[in-house]
Amino acid sequence: MMLVWGSATERQTIGELPAFTCRTCKTHATHQIIHVYGWGHLWYLGAIGSKKFYSVCKTCQTTDEITAEAGEKFGKAKYPFNQQYGWALWVVLIIGLIISSMVASGNRQDRVASYLSAPKVGDLYVADVAQLMKTQDKFHYAVLKVKSLRPDGIEFDPSVYFYEYGIDAAKAKVKADHPGFFSDESVVLSKKALQDMREKDLITDIERRE
Ligand SMILES: [Zn+2]
Repeated sequence: MMLVWGSATERQTIGELPAFTCRTCKTHATHQIIHVYGWGHLWYLGAIGSKKFYSVCKTCQTTDEITAEAGEKFGKAKYPFNQQYGWALWVVLIIGLIISSMVASGNRQDRVASYLSAPKVGDLYVADVAQLMKTQDKFHYAVLKVKSLRPDGIEFDPSVYFYEYGIDAAKAKVKADHPGFFSDESVVLSKKALQDMREKDLITDIERRE
């Protein structure tokens, strides 16, 4: 996805200052208030940055910077919603993403805990097996299929393949029915070992195929 961001300077006439005598042409008249402001944005959702106000003589165009206080007292700046409050949508979006990822993570942990407490033959585990295999290899995620339930633990068929990331192993589960996906050599993990893996969050997910 292309990152669309940028900044711009906008200029608008926002009102008039009460009459005073121009320092250049000596005309005594009201002066226009010009407001110049910068805004920055990410996908056009932005925030207002610098704000400046100027008085402009209507006769000779002499321009002087005035205080924001004076500019805001006699003028009324209007900013497009996305320029002024766009950032708030980012905040809402980011908070939403954080909450939904927390919910997803909570759901996943609940699922792992519940399937682990009542395992069924055929359950597919995605697990970080580096500790089990005592390996430093960067490909240390595997898919484990429950082969049989033992009084003291679970017998698994481990996948022949190992993955660098849990997400890759999770995707690979679709190949679980392909011949040769699982090794012929099963492994037995004790309840204690499985509990230990769960506490360390090494069991990334469990899928139950009904
Ligand atoms: Zn003037």
